[in-house]
Amino acid sequence: MSDGEKNENEENVKKKTDFRRKKKPTTKRKRRSRSPSKSEAVVDIEDIMFSIDNVQTIRASLLDWYDRSRRDLPWRSLDKGEPETRAYGVWVSEIMLQQTRVQTVVQFYNRWMLKWPTVQHLSRASLEEVNEMWAGLGYYRRARFLFEGAKMIVKEGGRFPKTVSSLRKIPGIGEYTAGAIASIAFGEVVPVVDGNVIRVIARLKAISGNPKDPKLIKQVWKAAAQLVDLSRPGDFNQALMELGATLCTPTNPSCSTCPVFDHCEALSISKRDSSVLVTDYPAKGIKTKQRHDYSAVCVVEILESQGTSELGQSSRFLLVKRPDEGLLAGLWEFPSVSLDGEADSSTRRESIDSLLSKNFGLEPKKNFEIVNREDVGDFIHVFTHIRLKIYVEHLVLCLKGEGSKLFRKQEKKSILWKCVENKVMSTMGLTSSVRKAYAMVEKFQAGKTSSSSSRVLPIKKQKS
Ligand code: SF4
Repeated sequence: MSDGEKNENEENVKKKTDFRRKKKPTTKRKRRSRSPSKSEAVVDIEDIMFSIDNVQTIRASLLDWYDRSRRDLPWRSLDKGEPETRAYGVWVSEIMLQQTRVQTVVQFYNRWMLKWPTVQHLSRASLEEVNEMWAGLGYYRRARFLFEGAKMIVKEGGRFPKTVSSLRKIPGIGEYTAGAIASIAFGEVVPVVDGNVIRVIARLKAISGNPKDPKLIKQVWKAAAQLVDLSRPGDFNQALMELGATLCTPTNPSCSTCPVFDHCEALSISKRDSSVLVTDYPAKGIKTKQRHDYSAVCVVEILESQGTSELGQSSRFLLVKRPDEGLLAGLWEFPSVSLDGEADSSTRRESIDSLLSKNFGLEPKKNFEIVNREDVGDFIHVFTHIRLKIYVEHLVLCLKGEGSKLFRKQEKKSILWKCVENKVMSTMGLTSSVRKAYAMVEKFQAGKTSSSSSRVLPIKKQKS
């Protein structure tokens, strides 16, 4: 520890979060008031560090368990490959795994690596292709960072940075991802701390503070740095994360099969005091209040000729391209408008009509006829802090007169759009909310079809 760090620690000793002595989070069982045991009455940073003996046995037990029990995941099959190939695979998988479950990531990872097996391949892609490949994983900023990072690495000679400090210069690579790549691919002895590691260390040291508290996180980084194995840093980091992901889970830890149970202070306290549960450590994080937003999506289906319409038969769907910068850059979606709040059908249609007129010159009666227009339902799409309610309507129309010429020109001012056939829709990389809206329309139509004698939908002519 440098003098600077030491002074900072000394100054902060009194301020240091006394994680264990903080009021415990509410649990089903009420706790009796009791004097903290020796192991609980600790305020100093040294107390969340491990003794040398413990470090040795924790390393050995965890690595032994990891060698026997680790999950077979595609990015781990690159173990024996070139370090640079391994680094790229770790990078892609770690970015995908942020906010996404392992089971979901596996298929996306395999598809990605098939298309762009190296950082050089990825650097030659376009952002639109990258976003299409990412469609369904959400949080598209991650995809853009991967793409920009690949271009940066190639621009600077094509060699993958090998240390945490050099990896941190790549867009989107933070302390966690840098530590994972440097330790797993290049053997740098550095720790890695994610939510799983925070939980495991908080339990091993019976820290009941808020796991999102930056002070607590800083302490966990220090404890993880002490634990990391000197000869197998990458495997050790993965073992610690694997323990949190598979055994030391948030609500149902399997302590009886845990390889480090005899080092676990939370378990030891809970055995001594039945009012304490291991899941009390760390405290439950406080959830950020979600913002409620609303939008109306119009699935515009354009018939080739008027008469009958079965979804996708002789018809095309109007898609709008999002700007090349910002959220979901370059992806295609149905025309949509933001709403101020809950809105009834006529208010939503007014907003949609105004959008179609302004952006596409589509004026009912003037250049198209409404063949059918129905509200098919709504669904909730959740982003990190936003709960978006999306109303979906299906508008079937037939262009006439000047209207039919509109769609020969595929661009209007800054808006790019296109009409695609049903079969093309299924092969495009569409965001999950676009897929959901389309699936709702399909389901709605299928319901109507099954209740009619013919598979061909009767067309109901409506007033605009
Ligand atoms: S003994 Fe239980 S609580 Fe402690 S680290 Fe192992 S699984 Fe987690």
